[in-house]
Amino acid sequence: MTILQGTGVVPGIGTGPVVRPMARPVVPDDEPEISPEEGAERFNTAAETVARRLEQRATNASGPAAEVLVATATLARDRGLVGLVSAQLGSGLRLGAATVAAVEQLSDMFRSAGGLMAERVSDLQDIRDRVLAELTGQPEPGIPTPDTASVLCADDLAPADTAGLDPTFIAAIATSLGGVTSHTTIIARQLGIPCVVGCSGLDDVESGTDVLVDGTTGEVVLDPDPQMAKERTVAAEAAAEAARSWTGPGATSDGHAVDILANVQDGAGAQRAASTHVQGVGLFRTELCFLSSASEPTIEEQAAIYREVLDAMGERKVVIRTLDAGSDKPLAFATLPDEPNPALGVRGMRLGIRDEGLMDRQLDAIAAAAEAAAGDVWVMAPMVATEQEAEWFAARVRQRDLTPGVMIEVPSAALLADRILRHVDFVSIGTNDLSQYTLAADRMSADLSHLTDPWQPALLALVGQVARAGRDAGKPVGVCGEAAADPLLGCVLAGLGVTSLSAASTAAPAVGAALAEHTLAECEAAAEAALAATAPSSAREAATAALA
Ligand code: PEP
Ligand code: MG
Repeated sequence: MTILQGTGVVPGIGTGPVVRPMARPVVPDDEPEISPEEGAERFNTAAETVARRLEQRATNASGPAAEVLVATATLARDRGLVGLVSAQLGSGLRLGAATVAAVEQLSDMFRSAGGLMAERVSDLQDIRDRVLAELTGQPEPGIPTPDTASVLCADDLAPADTAGLDPTFIAAIATSLGGVTSHTTIIARQLGIPCVVGCSGLDDVESGTDVLVDGTTGEVVLDPDPQMAKERTVAAEAAAEAARSWTGPGATSDGHAVDILANVQDGAGAQRAASTHVQGVGLFRTELCFLSSASEPTIEEQAAIYREVLDAMGERKVVIRTLDAGSDKPLAFATLPDEPNPALGVRGMRLGIRDEGLMDRQLDAIAAAAEAAAGDVWVMAPMVATEQEAEWFAARVRQRDLTPGVMIEVPSAALLADRILRHVDFVSIGTNDLSQYTLAADRMSADLSHLTDPWQPALLALVGQVARAGRDAGKPVGVCGEAAADPLLGCVLAGLGVTSLSAASTAAPAVGAALAEHTLAECEAAAEAALAATAPSSAREAATAALA
């Protein structure tokens, strides 16, 4: 058996023969000459047809799937794209070639903006293929509809395709590109399809090959042994059943409380979280509400959005994070343009320190929204690096009668967590960034995903240090990065002394269920074993053995 390793993003096991997306349309060799005006006109018509088709499919979908389809349709109508096509036609290219060149130009701009903009490049390329197929009479690209349960493998999936997937026939998804925040991940999670991304070697696997995808460990097993496949499927189904029957509150089997919370980004997400047994929201990523806002929303506009989340959660606690703009989440009204290294630039709370008004208006909006809230409202700042920053932030939050905390995502903050905790009432560890900065490895890089793996013992050691500081100060220490979405790692984090785990609401119940199966002493033993390991894989194995 050959085992390929990627990043597991949606837990579960799926097996079946590999299917791959239909071939992309090609630019014909014999394209007729066309005037720039007529070419632009034909491009517009084709793009409009593509946009309408995507919108039509959106009406048959729901939630993030529908949002992805609508967002892709909007991009197809982008005026900038038409302008680029006209310019390419003007320089003498024929229509198909001009379309390809224009999309490449726009993709370059998106890539150099980085982060979420860069992730939209696959949307753009999907639009290119659909428009090209429409212009040249070739079949529309997309996912074949298999008649038996199959595993969909691709370099990356076009969002418009993932949005229309049928979980009855697509048992699992594996991609060689993509990351934890890519559209493939978001949609697969919504559809509950086991998914592995960033899996190298996958491109060489032929259609029809039998594979097993393990969305928990990130493994793609070629020609799996049937007995092993059966055992893993049974174990995954048992874990899924335990997650479905988990009713909270979060605790180990011997009653040590660890709050199980949800990560949300808007009112709709908070409503989905509220329909589960999570005890509240551990991370409300406010910047994601404003990704397409050209200018800063007013205090009233912001308050209305925050209120939607607070209302949805009722009496349950909500931790609101102030804007984490910059790097992988640029906001037009906040981020500094042209930083040479945005991940190490003026991002997160640094923007609020640079422009205090931006921070104050957001805190005013949060305070206004919190006035009528039935549950506790805690507020935390992202990307805090020093004790002084924590003190600065805490004072502003307390002035508004809110409960201040900070995220621990920079190693300097982890090292001095005891001092930071003198100023704030809680901390929450952002393991996504803490691993990126501790291991000096870009969190978006598939090539470096072994370094940003949250099982890296160095990351676990820092988490343990922060948890000890919290225990000494008598203050809560949560984890709200992707590490908290892994049931096994959740037990390890609890063993390290973390007091809450916050993950996507689709992942949180499985974490609560795993925790409920083990005593605190077992979790502590697993933590000790993982800390002593030399690599993420052996840390996982050691923790599994300790919890067996
Ligand atoms: C993190 O860094 O772990 C985190 C939760 O913040 P984000 O993923 O939004 O950067
Ligand atoms: Mg972060």
